[in-house]
Amino acid sequence: MGDVKLVVQVRLLPTPEQAAALEATLGAVNEAATWVSALAHHQRVFRNYDLRRHAYGQIKDNYGLAAQAAQHVIKKVTDAYATLHANLRNGQAGRPGSARRERALAKPIVFRPGAAQPFDDRCLSWRLEARTVSIWTTCGRMKSVAFAASADQLMTLAAYHKGESDLLYRDGRWFLIATCDIPDRPVATPDGFLGVDLGIANLATTSGGVRHSGKGLNAVRHRHRELRRRLQAKQTKSAKRLLRKRRRKEARFAANTNHTIAKRIVTAATRTGQGIALEDLQGIRDRVRLRKPQRVTLHSWNFRQLGRFVVYKARRAGVAVVYVDPAYTSQGCSACGHIDRRNRPDQETFRCTSCGFAEHADVNAARNIASRGVAGWAVSHAADDAA
Ligand SMILES: [Zn+2]
Repeated sequence: MGDVKLVVQVRLLPTPEQAAALEATLGAVNEAATWVSALAHHQRVFRNYDLRRHAYGQIKDNYGLAAQAAQHVIKKVTDAYATLHANLRNGQAGRPGSARRERALAKPIVFRPGAAQPFDDRCLSWRLEARTVSIWTTCGRMKSVAFAASADQLMTLAAYHKGESDLLYRDGRWFLIATCDIPDRPVATPDGFLGVDLGIANLATTSGGVRHSGKGLNAVRHRHRELRRRLQAKQTKSAKRLLRKRRRKEARFAANTNHTIAKRIVTAATRTGQGIALEDLQGIRDRVRLRKPQRVTLHSWNFRQLGRFVVYKARRAGVAVVYVDPAYTSQGCSACGHIDRRNRPDQETFRCTSCGFAEHADVNAARNIASRGVAGWAVSHAADDAA
């Protein structure tokens, strides 16, 4: 297993003067990138070394960029074309001859004024205790630009951040995005397993009996769905922009909810010395598909994200994670093992038709997942012991 890559996104809180400098800077680097991109496109020059020879001096002078910024601009352009060309090769930009593919080929890549720009250690330094950064701008070095971060984010940045961070402007807000490499902690031998059942009414339910409801998230989704219906009818540019903004806001809310839930689950497992058992995600996708086809994308995406958050938080904490087969976890009795559809008369209720055991349906499912976790761990580690 390699290291876990973790992205820490903090919001900058610039003063009006600092914001103006950031805006000028991001505008300049992206204008420069668009210019370099046009040059690359027209001259069919896509290699970093060649583009540097053609463009480096010019963008430094014409856009007022520092040496590192100019190099990052060129690298950003070559990276963007490398991605485009890879997508063309693997067919993701449409079939040969298709209109979509032709469009992708016809025009040079354009960079929005707020598009992300990498800043390396020489252009950006973090003062974590003061919660400020010092950053190069086209108006000179801006010292003490404040940022907002949680204690957890600060710890992660202090311990694991190296190299570049991306500056970007989105929906009227400034962000810095730092990538951190988190080394794996050795996994402790678990004392039993905490089973996690992922669902729709309750996003996650543990075998310990804790239900993490998706109420807030479902309410936000519902409100957004209503708004989306009205906006989609309009088809205007501003309606489309508002839609995009809404979609991102909803995604942010969902990610925050998932982070909070994942953290609580991993904390519970750490406290009790348990490992964590999750349903195999492919299985979840199939199960949801059977239920409500139109919701598959949204929910399976959400399940995958929550699962991913649990896995990397668990790895950081040295908590064992096993995936289990999700078949019949909702219909099987966690007390006697009896499987029967009638064990689950409705969404919330589990009542065993054989032994009479009764429990909340999601908690019963989570207990089944937990015992499969114990069995799965025993099987995979029997091989280790034999070796
Ligand atoms: Zn039973």
